[in-house]
Amino acid sequence: MNRFTDGGVFSKRLIFRDAMNIYSSKLVENAVNEFSRLPGIGKKTALRLVLHILKKDNPVAEALGNSIIKMRSEVQYCRICHTLSDSDICVICSDGKRQKSIICVVEDIRDMMAIENTGQYNGVYHVLGGIISPMEGIGPNDLNIGSLVERAKGGSITEVIMALPTTIEGDTTNFYIYKKLKELGPDITTIARGIAIGDELEYTDEVTLGRSILNRMPYEKTLTK
Ligand SMILES: [Zn+2]
Repeated sequence: MNRFTDGGVFSKRLIFRDAMNIYSSKLVENAVNEFSRLPGIGKKTALRLVLHILKKDNPVAEALGNSIIKMRSEVQYCRICHTLSDSDICVICSDGKRQKSIICVVEDIRDMMAIENTGQYNGVYHVLGGIISPMEGIGPNDLNIGSLVERAKGGSITEVIMALPTTIEGDTTNFYIYKKLKELGPDITTIARGIAIGDELEYTDEVTLGRSILNRMPYEKTLTK
């Protein structure tokens, strides 16, 4: 029996065997498996990345591997604002030129980066590490809200800018924080929304986001709508 007379059995078997043992190298297979664990990376993309690394000189692979290991073991959260930092206090919190009396509250570091990218903000940040989401089981105690309240209690904060996504979860979180802070003194503002409902900050273009920070409004005004 050959591949032309077996009625397709042979080719089916061939496909099956390929699926079981497709890699000629266990080392390559392991690397592909590790890459494909990353979000958005399928097996095909993982293989493409692995083959790319193999084509490059060894130092390229070493630099990649070492940067991941070093980053994972040494990076920490800023003691004040909870952003990722190389030291106890991040470069923004320790920058003497930043206005420490204004805090911008963001969901995560990506939103902070988006705002930094606009070049329109010179205050400091507070990274919540998420937003309140009963659906996902995330409550206020899972987020860096207590430390925000402590910062506001310190007395030197004049304004807290809420820059959370315009989703139900974002609104819930805004309102929760507003209730916690409103008796403590600082003005509570929210970034102006030229941004469509449901938009994530990090996907908003720089100009729009920059403008929405400059045109921020008192949070209470948004409640009476
Ligand atoms: Zn910081």
